Amino acid sequence: KKLGWAIVGLGEFATKQIMPSFAECKKSKLVALVSGDRAKAEKYAQQYSVNPKNIYNYQNYDSIRNNPEVDIIYIILPNALHAEYSIRGVQAGKHIMCEKPMAITVAECQAMIEAAKKANRKLMIAYRAQYEPYNLATIQLAQSGKLGKLKLITSDHGRNLNPKEPQDRWRAQKKLAGGGSLYDIGIYSLQAARYITGEEPVAISAMIYSTPNDPRFREVEENVNFVLRFPSGVLANCSSSYGYSNTKRIQVFGSDAVLELDPATDYYKHRLILKSKNGNQEQKIEDKNQFALEIDHLSESIIQNKQPKTPGEEGLQDVKLMQLIYEAARTGKSIKV
Ligand code: NAD
Repeated sequence: KKLGWAIVGLGEFATKQIMPSFAECKKSKLVALVSGDRAKAEKYAQQYSVNPKNIYNYQNYDSIRNNPEVDIIYIILPNALHAEYSIRGVQAGKHIMCEKPMAITVAECQAMIEAAKKANRKLMIAYRAQYEPYNLATIQLAQSGKLGKLKLITSDHGRNLNPKEPQDRWRAQKKLAGGGSLYDIGIYSLQAARYITGEEPVAISAMIYSTPNDPRFREVEENVNFVLRFPSGVLANCSSSYGYSNTKRIQVFGSDAVLELDPATDYYKHRLILKSKNGNQEQKIEDKNQFALEIDHLSESIIQNKQPKTPGEEGLQDVKLMQLIYEAARTGKSIKV
């Protein structure tokens, strides 16, 4: 049986990556759309065989509670709207998949977790890298001792913010985005350090720099460098940028070998190289549609009544840590977590 999914927000990511991925899902089907633009929703409804009676807007969104075809709502809106639409969704009796970052503030994340608990619904954060085969292989290699003792992780995520693109307009507004490059893509660097070590950081330091007079960075930050120290002694050097050329890279340095994943968190075509005394070896792994895998993971978790691997608590932890990264940069002090 396939569970029914509704998508809220028919923007760049939803229409180009998520909606096409339902074709590869085994436990999930797209059955409803929520959009402020009726014509756009009708166009996609036709393309994906969604019944036009299952098109909602932001005003009648709550009436989705009366639609038994919808089991799960996937929130793909600007960050500042994640909390409201997730909470309204669970209150309408539906399970929620919410895009990263989970929300803007720690309090919002906590309210989302509480609302889901109260409604007895599942809440998952769409951390696709944790379902993607190359990242899973990286975790396995790092945690199995294959690299020797882990010493350092570096992760860099950057691109040029381009306010000519509609999806980058709200990203330049603090009110809608919550933060700059850190909230949008630095979160991948932070996630990588956490899922590769399997640990939580105990100390954080950070530095932020935005190019003066660049109108893109009037409200949100451009560059964030942060260092995390983990209980096992592993250090992570991470960066995010809205100013450097497209990069999505992870490196893991062990006492015996170094692993490079580049690109690490792209949509397709990852590349993993193991560097050891035997030279550099490319590790080939079958590429799979990570979006289909994460979507089916939530459907599966609901069918089996299990906690998803990346629940609301995982999203909350990142928002907490990102707030501490901002604080460390602001105060110039290393922060004990
Ligand atoms: P987008 O701007 O293309 O899409 C956002 C959609 O929300 C648009 O259709 C827009 O019309 C709609 N919207 C509704 N209310 C709005 C409002 N008040 N202001 C602005 N837009 C409003 O952005 P996107 O790149 O698709 O990002 C959407 C979400 O998905 C973000 O949270 C982002 O972080 C996340 N995302 C995740 C990934 C990933 O790989 N997991 C990739 C891209 C985006």
